[in-house]
Amino acid sequence: MALRVYNTLSRTLQDFQPLDPDGQAVGMYCCGPTVHDFAHIGNFRTFVFADLVRRYLEFRGFRVNHVMNITDVEDKIIKRVREQGVKLADFTRERENAFLEDLDTLGCLRPHQIPRATAFISEMIALIGRLMERGVAYQAPDRSIYFSIEKYRGCGCTYGQLQKLNFEEMRVGDRVSSDEYEKESVADFALWKARVPEDGEVYWDSPWGQGRPGWHIECSAMSMKLLGETFDLHLGGEDLVFPHHEDEIAQSEGATGKPFVKYWMHGAHLLVEGKKMSKSLGNFFTLRDLLAKGFSGREIRYLLLSAHYRETFNFTLDGLTGAKSALARIDECVAKLRELAGSRQDGTSTGSADELIGRFSTAMDEDLNVSAAWGAVFEWVRETNRRLAGGELSAAEAASALAGWEAVDRVLGIGALCEESQVPPELSALLEERQAARKAKDFKRSDAIRDELKARGWVIEDTPKGPRLKKL
Ligand code: AMP
Ligand code: ZN
Repeated sequence: MALRVYNTLSRTLQDFQPLDPDGQAVGMYCCGPTVHDFAHIGNFRTFVFADLVRRYLEFRGFRVNHVMNITDVEDKIIKRVREQGVKLADFTRERENAFLEDLDTLGCLRPHQIPRATAFISEMIALIGRLMERGVAYQAPDRSIYFSIEKYRGCGCTYGQLQKLNFEEMRVGDRVSSDEYEKESVADFALWKARVPEDGEVYWDSPWGQGRPGWHIECSAMSMKLLGETFDLHLGGEDLVFPHHEDEIAQSEGATGKPFVKYWMHGAHLLVEGKKMSKSLGNFFTLRDLLAKGFSGREIRYLLLSAHYRETFNFTLDGLTGAKSALARIDECVAKLRELAGSRQDGTSTGSADELIGRFSTAMDEDLNVSAAWGAVFEWVRETNRRLAGGELSAAEAASALAGWEAVDRVLGIGALCEESQVPPELSALLEERQAARKAKDFKRSDAIRDELKARGWVIEDTPKGPRLKKL
């Protein structure tokens, strides 16, 4: 069966068929964070969704090139930099580092490429130059460069591919300069914003004078530079459909004359305790707020992954408590299988494990129906527990069942975040110290460290990649 995804562009479920003639390589771009603040749990729903898409494509054998940008210059950032009187790079780098750490905490695989907008200014200027040459961009009296919707439509191009728009109200040449605006204000949007005193030191030279790029052009320039002028898959939260993604299409297709993206996937929003998150309602959580309440990245990942990506999800603290017990059921079953399998860790999946993989992929093939996929996992847990309790499983069968779970977990990404399999940092430091002692031929010290690790429940295992710690 083919993987089918809901394409916002066609508003239908479509078979996923990448542009690569060999059907292998997939270029995937997800709009990354605007690093004006610490990312909140709603933002992370979108990034965990992107991680799921990438992991499932890899599970299906595709070779994914996952790009996620860092928006490190836009209206909100400049406002904060001005208020705090700090340097742009100092301000954004701190939030970017925190964001990447949070992604790790949530078990998200790092995207293959993480371009920063400020490193692609010359590509943005070149792209705007192409739009000027093709006559779909113009310099306004405020010296900023705007995209002309009238000229673009006049070339037979469609503005409003992702969302139906009302052009009745639009007056030719109506302009918006802010990065975010409502659907009602269909208007020419800024590609290059001329320098104003409030921008402080945040500006670059361009053929049209000093200024800075608009937010929308950033993603067009970075995605096309890294993935080509036409690529497979573009993701983001549903709030980005208009204007951000519509403007990305217009800028890219307006410059190249080629289709920009084949599939657009949008994740629905997250509410907290039934309401839109807001600081004044006290339901606004960063990841760090939840960790401080004693929840783990793993529990949060599980909860964020429990509902279909196109459903609005109601995130609750009770839900997190429920995640804890759901994960404990999986962990207990997997631990028992490990115990029974003993050293036979190289099992290939057969029998019930094949069934698990089969049911899991059937569910995921249908537009990533993750709730049905979890259903398959919990049914497998129930059945495996029954067989374990009845003494029906041999060591080889346990190893095979484990192989099935591990295959599925490479998509869900829950196992690697298990505290059981995570080596505490002080023990990793001890392992490094032992390596240094061995190098220095201090065998007394290296043996003493080995014994200490053993006393704390860990053994050293030699692997082709060097020694690593394994739970006894
Ligand atoms: P931003 O940093 O504001 O550009 O947002 C980063 C990503 O988070 C974008 O893809 C947004 O669509 C997404 N996002 C923002 N708020 C929410 C929310 N409440 N639920 C899910 N995704 C969100
Ligand atoms: Zn974007």
